[in-house]
Amino acid sequence: MVLTPHSIAGAAIASFFKLNPFTAFFAGFLSHFFLDAVPHWDYKLKSEYKDLENPMNGDLIIGRDFYFDLVKIGFDALLGLSLAVFFFNFGLGVSLEIVLAGVIGALAPDALQFVYTKWRKEPLISLQRTHLLFINFFQKKIESPFWGLSMYCFVVVLFLFLGSLGVFSL
Ligand SMILES: [Zn+2]
Repeated sequence: MVLTPHSIAGAAIASFFKLNPFTAFFAGFLSHFFLDAVPHWDYKLKSEYKDLENPMNGDLIIGRDFYFDLVKIGFDALLGLSLAVFFFNFGLGVSLEIVLAGVIGALAPDALQFVYTKWRKEPLISLQRTHLLFINFFQKKIESPFWGLSMYCFVVVLFLFLGSLGVFSL
């Protein structure tokens, strides 16, 4: 799944359960895997190498394409982060540390997935195996970018709503 819905989910869960930064990070981290299991669409990464026989061999090839991919990923990360901070911190007054901890926790599995492609050692091997297990939990993927993006908008709005429920139920 792309990064924006992960970020919003991490911040929303932290806000809903009024977590502290430590538990917010951990809850965000766990939420990543469950969201990845939901059938979804992903934007293409040109530098990505996929091994259909063994997904554990997947890689991101560092070169010209990789830097273009980084811009895409960076935009996605920044969009989710700013939306989360704007809504939960500015809008609803949830502390910035808690929002950031939720977002960083929710993005960490994908960052660690990148680290795994460059450093294939434990505990990253087990983490990558678990990550792939969730990603491929339902074989079904959304092929159409339109429906993929619509689904992401729905997930974002749903988590913004759920997160704000926790803030108002003091
Ligand atoms: Zn993921």
